[in-house]
Amino acid sequence: MASLARLPSAFGLTLEDWIEWVEARGQSRFRAKQIVEWIYGRRAKSWDGMTNLPQALRAELETAFSLDRLAVVRATGSLDATRKFLFRLHDGRLVETVKIPANAHFDGGRSDRVTLCVSSQVGCAYDCKFCASGLAGFTRNLEVEEIVGQVVAAEEESGEAASNLVFMGMGEPLANLSRLTKAIAILNAPWGLDIGARHMTVSTSGLAPQIERLAELPVQIRLAISLHGASDEVRERIMPVNRKYPLARLFEALEVWRERKKQRITFEYILIEGVNDSPEQAALLARRAKPLDAKVNLIPYNVVEGLPWVRPSEARQESFLQILRRAGVVATLRREKGHDIAAACGQLRLQEETAEGVAVVRRKE
Ligand code: SAH
Repeated sequence: MASLARLPSAFGLTLEDWIEWVEARGQSRFRAKQIVEWIYGRRAKSWDGMTNLPQALRAELETAFSLDRLAVVRATGSLDATRKFLFRLHDGRLVETVKIPANAHFDGGRSDRVTLCVSSQVGCAYDCKFCASGLAGFTRNLEVEEIVGQVVAAEEESGEAASNLVFMGMGEPLANLSRLTKAIAILNAPWGLDIGARHMTVSTSGLAPQIERLAELPVQIRLAISLHGASDEVRERIMPVNRKYPLARLFEALEVWRERKKQRITFEYILIEGVNDSPEQAALLARRAKPLDAKVNLIPYNVVEGLPWVRPSEARQESFLQILRRAGVVATLRREKGHDIAAACGQLRLQEETAEGVAVVRRKE
């Protein structure tokens, strides 16, 4: 059977795009408002059901855009109520989204929160030595509708609206900046998913020029930096990106961010035994965090199959934390959820569907 050409997804358009589209067809711009109300307000699954739109317009929409959701390949529930969704994209690639129950993530405290951890790329090119996501390399950027689509599908699958988003799934969000910012506009818009910008966190391995570009954006999204080393020597060993943007360059960008946003940056710092968990690194980290008034989020390393790293003892984690606190740094030690289903930080990895089911993609030699 000949397959029909794939229609563009309705989830990739902003209200401005819809206005342009309806006006090009001689329709009044309020039709665009009606369209987004059906898509996001009522989660319509067919154009035909959009009864307040003229029949001819509905027919045209039908042939122009798809309302298809990302296909759920697998939904895994963790004992601690974290859920992981594996979605199939139009080209058969797979991507994961994690739903984290209230209080599991940083900023914690409020009880009615539902945080979604969203992916930005299929695979990752940055090759951080402790992370599963880059083990099989980079495949492609996610499209706007695939970023928005993860939130739409995860909400519909779980029956709960997302209150918070963290761009901490697979991939480097700032390496997909133009699509990310358009997706954020749709996720943030009152006519769209209506998730407050202050409830969205973009996490980056430290792409300095892109941090500066993101700082120009007029929305108050939050920034988290995957630091993981307080000196170039230590950071370089586990994060090759540090060769391109050493700490001095990264901190220049963070100054720009501070200047523009007047908000607190978070440093994520995985503790890996014998690599970055020494008292000297803690003291150095405090010296870097203090002047920026950054918050430090310590994350005990999560085991990744095939990688040699070890999580330090709790005593060692605790003493690292205390050095930061004694230096006057706001710091937390994160107790993560979702380990039993490999949904914790750094455990999302490239997968593919095979005749036998879903399989992990091994490193391409
Ligand atoms: N590329 C972005 C977005 C991914 S966020 C970034 O680097 O920030 C995923 C977070 O999980 C990052 O802070 C990452 O450093 C962290 N992480 C990766 N591997 C991990 C592991 N094995 N254990 C704990 N955290 C890990």
